[in-house]
Amino acid sequence: MGVVTLDQVERQIARGFRLLRFAPDIEAAFRKDYAAERVRLAAIWGVVGTLIYDLVYFGDRTMMADVFSELVVLRFLVFTPFVIGCILAVRRWPHALFYDILSIAIAVLGVTLPMAAATQSASPYLFVYQNGNSAAFLFFVIALRPRFPAVLAGLVLMCASHFTTTQMTGAFDAVTYSGIVTFYVTLSIFLAVSAYFLEQKDRQNFLNQLRGSLLYRQLEHNSERDELTGLLNRRSLARTAEGLWSDAGHRIAAVLLDIDHFKRFNDVHGHIEGDACLRAVSQCIRDTVDEASFVFRFGGEEMLVLSVDREPLAALAMAERIRAAIEGLAMRHRGLDGGCVTVSLGVALAVPSEATLEGLLRDADSALYEAKRTGRNAVVLAGELAAGARVA
Ligand code: GH3
Ligand code: MG
Ligand code: MG
Repeated sequence: MGVVTLDQVERQIARGFRLLRFAPDIEAAFRKDYAAERVRLAAIWGVVGTLIYDLVYFGDRTMMADVFSELVVLRFLVFTPFVIGCILAVRRWPHALFYDILSIAIAVLGVTLPMAAATQSASPYLFVYQNGNSAAFLFFVIALRPRFPAVLAGLVLMCASHFTTTQMTGAFDAVTYSGIVTFYVTLSIFLAVSAYFLEQKDRQNFLNQLRGSLLYRQLEHNSERDELTGLLNRRSLARTAEGLWSDAGHRIAAVLLDIDHFKRFNDVHGHIEGDACLRAVSQCIRDTVDEASFVFRFGGEEMLVLSVDREPLAALAMAERIRAAIEGLAMRHRGLDGGCVTVSLGVALAVPSEATLEGLLRDADSALYEAKRTGRNAVVLAGELAAGARVA
């Protein structure tokens, strides 16, 4: 199943879904949601439906005394275990189509079993007795609520079974029989139409909910990203740091980066190209660091990388990889004599139990200042860790 995007959902809403079908990715998401919801309710409806079905035991005893023992076997030894098996099966394999097929099977069996026994009965109450099947029709459509095509298939099969077995009883004249047929056909049409509109509402609600959650996710994503570079923004730094600082034992490395002579780059190339340069540098940093590192746009043309559990030399090596990768882009800087865009980097490390984020950033900033002071396009590791260690 592909990932559903907000665009796809908006298009689906605009296009509508008259035939109760979405575009493939949304349809797959709907089916998954549908199956999960139905399976969640399957046990409840299974117990309620079977209980009512088995309580007809008392009706069987009074109305169908001559086939009572057969009915007891059919209700308690055939139908009840079948429903229990279906509930277990659908919990084990929660798929929409499987649920729909089992719903049809339960409905058709529920209608057929008592009427199969009735074909052997000479009871004078057969007319009242066969009326009971209307409850199975209602239960199938309203409680089990399979998807619309399954509702249609189920109703047709239930009608076919009921009309056949009713005729096989031989207990009704033509007028009574056609009255029974008319009643069940009318009931089925009403149920089918309401099932169509119910599913349409379900689908509309599903789309609205999906749209809402995707919008929320987009909003959340936008609120923590910098619009120009796509990097994490300053606002999300506090939240990320909070998470990193909650695990006091880890060592955290900060790499602070600043583009060299960027003011001049803007002056010579213009701000539009300056922006493009910022995007390229940001992308390069993202491509160079590992997935577990956090990359922020810290200021105008200053970026910050935070990584967990890095030894000083590994942090230094990562910063050097970033420096070399940006130099490797060979972006022309016409403000420098034959030069290209380079960056300076300051590296600092801290253990959360011993230092604050502000302290770590201050150290990284001092190291960055040192890298600028001593010639730029360089990496400097902060403070006591490596008294003035300078790479490149
Ligand atoms: P140094 O090597 O000492 O860092 O020199 P510098 O010229 O890069 O100096 P500094 O870091 O102070 O310059 C920052 C410049 O970055 C100033 C500003 O014009 C530019 N800048 C900041 N944000 C943006 C932006 O979003 N787009 C563009 N195009 N330029 C920006
Ligand atoms: Mg700067
Ligand atoms: Mg700069």
